[in-house]
Parts: sequence; structure tokens; C-alpha cells
Amino acid sequence: MKRQTPAHKGVCYIVGAGPGDPGLLTLRGLECLKQADVILYDALCNPQLLSHAKSSARLVDVGKSGKTRSRQDQINHLLVKETSAGHTVCRLKGGDPYVFGRGGEEALALHQAGLNFQVVPGVTSAIAVPAYAGIPVTHRGKSVMFTVITGHEDPDKGNSDVDWSKVAQLEGTRVLLMGLSRLKLITESLIRYGAPKSMPVAVIESGTLGSQRTVTGTLSDITAKVAKAGLKPPAITVLGEVVTLRQELNWFEKSPLFGRRVVVTRTRAQASQVTHYLQRLGAEVIELPTIKIVPPQHPEKLRESIMNIQSFDWLVLTSPNAAEIFLRDFMLIHGDIRKLNGVKIAAVGTATGAKLKEFHLPVDLKPREFSALKLSEIFKAKNIKGKKILLPRSAIAQDLLPKELKKLGAVC
Ligand code: SAH
Repeated sequence: MKRQTPAHKGVCYIVGAGPGDPGLLTLRGLECLKQADVILYDALCNPQLLSHAKSSARLVDVGKSGKTRSRQDQINHLLVKETSAGHTVCRLKGGDPYVFGRGGEEALALHQAGLNFQVVPGVTSAIAVPAYAGIPVTHRGKSVMFTVITGHEDPDKGNSDVDWSKVAQLEGTRVLLMGLSRLKLITESLIRYGAPKSMPVAVIESGTLGSQRTVTGTLSDITAKVAKAGLKPPAITVLGEVVTLRQELNWFEKSPLFGRRVVVTRTRAQASQVTHYLQRLGAEVIELPTIKIVPPQHPEKLRESIMNIQSFDWLVLTSPNAAEIFLRDFMLIHGDIRKLNGVKIAAVGTATGAKLKEFHLPVDLKPREFSALKLSEIFKAKNIKGKKILLPRSAIAQDLLPKELKKLGAVC
């Protein structure tokens, strides 16, 4: 049988971004994100995931929340347009693309336009959010099935697609998505249709994130408790016996930094590692870069020094940024790291040393802590009288170190 492949070279990956915790993106999802020329993402996708995009990628926010609502047909149109232009498109969607994500409609639009697409399933919030709140959706002896239901439909509306009388009679766990604003109507109609008032219920806001909040109660009192706590969307409602397991299985909310909000002020590019560690400890992290590393305003001096690198005895690097910028320019000018041969290297701090290691450069001198006085003390023992030292560093660095080195007779 002959395989039918669309003629276009463009492809659209419809990727599940997971429920919020950036660690819950799949490996295949990450691969697609990294390859994409264009990324169309939703409001529910964690923006941190976009840091995996290549620097030339175009990032398009098609979030349907807020004032600038992108309509679904506009999104479909955009997907078709970008893919047929030959781009590698990543359509990044919260949770799993096919669980109340309208991913099916997007795939159909691409199929109807004769375009290539692939679906990368994601970790759906319907399962992951209860898990992070200490609730397994099935459990022997408590629940042998679970049903995921949209709470988007008004239960009092005659033509609702969801038959709430049937939902009330269901066995096992019920997971409601998108139903927070209708919680009162939904719980009332479930009770009206015969569900026990004492049924355990949990409502979880911003699940899997450091900002996660959980309220538990019963079918009869949950609405009041949720209103009192002021929970906001996105939130999930879990109904059933499994909710009681939270008393023992609530692991995430017991993480050491859970409930703490931490501001990371490093530059955007350097924050991710710190952010990652803090998030693993349960913190809610806000990245607020207070500094920005920019190339030198007067690059001539640095370039000239690099051209004449062989005239220096020492290269002193006091930060990973200085190392990065120096080595980048060095490679642009010389294209050969061996041109550094004969120049001794001092690197202050482990991060600076690690940066040099990326270039396979051994370091001759590596003081762990940075203080101009300490560094000059170490250099004193090296007898640097008359030696030429190159010190590429930030334009706003203090004068102390070059002064101290000059005192020792060096040309800095
Ligand atoms: N495709 C998504 C669901 C999209 S519908 C998935 O598989 O997860 C959007 C609804 O998902 C929200 O209204 C909310 O009910 C739920 N949701 C998504 N992420 C959530 C989160 N981090 N915490 C709580 N609820 C979430």
C-alpha cells in the first residue's frame, strides 16, 4: 500500500505542556519545543517552558483568557498558515492536547488542509493535579474507575451536554475541569440527583505549582469553604472516597519550601538553575531580573587586547559573564583556542572555572572567594612585578583589584 504523505515540508507538533510544573513536560515534547521555528502557546502553559525555544523561534501567545481572546477558528487558521509556509510549528497546550484541549479540532484543521502533524500527549491536569494534592484517582477498595467531566456547562441549562443526573449516579472518582465558577450549581444539582451530601470533595487551585492551594470538604459544604478561601481558576474539583487518602499522601504540600514565594533576581539566562532547585523544593518562584548582561559599549579595547593576547602573562577572569564574553570574542577573532598558549589563567569562583571548563581550558590559579585583597595576596606570592595582566570585566566593577595589582608592580 502506498503511504500518503502531504507534499509540504512544514509540520505541526501538537504538544501537551503538562499541568504547570515544568518538570512534567515529556522528553518528546521538549524535543519538539527545541526544534520549532514558531511556537503557539496557551495561557495555561508554564512560560518557563519557552526558555527551551531556540533563540530565533517566534513565540506567539494565543491564550484564550483575558481581554485579547484568540478565537479557536483564528488559532486553527494560524496553525494552517504557519505550517503551510513550511515552518516547524509547535502548538503548546496545557496538560494533554486531547483532554478538553480542543487539540482534536486543531488536528482536524491541519488534516483538512493536507498538512503534516504529530500529537505529543501530555501529563493531564486531571490526574497530575490530584496526585500533587495527595489524591490518587483510583485506589483499590475506594475507586475502580474515574471520570473526567467538563464543568463548563451550566447544570441548569436545559440543553447541557453533561447529564448531571448520570454524573450523580456514577461510581468511582469524578474529576471536574473548568467548573470553579459553577461549583455551587454543580454540587447542588448532584445532591438533588441523589449523590450523598457527605461525599468527600477537594478543590485544587494552580496544581503542581508552588502556588498550589487545596481546600477539602464535602458535597454540601465545599462551595462555602472554597468561597471563604477565595480559590481562583485554574482549579480542579475531585469528588469521591479517594479524597480522604490526602490525609496520608499529601507529599507535595509538605515540601520544605512549599508556601514560600521566592524572587530570583539573576539575569533571565542565569536564573533557570536556581529557579529549578527552588521549585524542586516546592517554592513558588518569581523571576525578576534586576541586572542584564550586555556586550561592552566600547568593544575596541577588549578586541585589541585579544588580538595581542600573546603579549600578556596573565588572564584574570572574575565572573562567568566575563569569561563567556571574553572567550566568545576570542574565538571570533582567533578561531583557535591554542592562541591562548603561554598565557596563565586565573579564574575566581567555581562558576567562572566551570565556564572555562566548557572550553576545555585548565586554570592555573583558582581562588574560591572573590575579594580584591585576597586575590592580590595570592598574586603577591607569584611575584608579578613587571608582568602584564589582562582583566576583562564588567564596566561597573570596582577599581580595587587593578589598583592592588598595580601596587605589586604589574601592568594591568
Ligand atoms: N488539556 C488540559 C485541560 C484544559 S481545560 C489538561 O489536560 O490538563 C482547562 C482546565 O484544566 C482548567 O479550567 C482547570 O480545571 C484545569 N487545569 C489545568 N491546569 C491546572 C492546574 N495547574 N491546576 C488546576 N487545574 C488545572
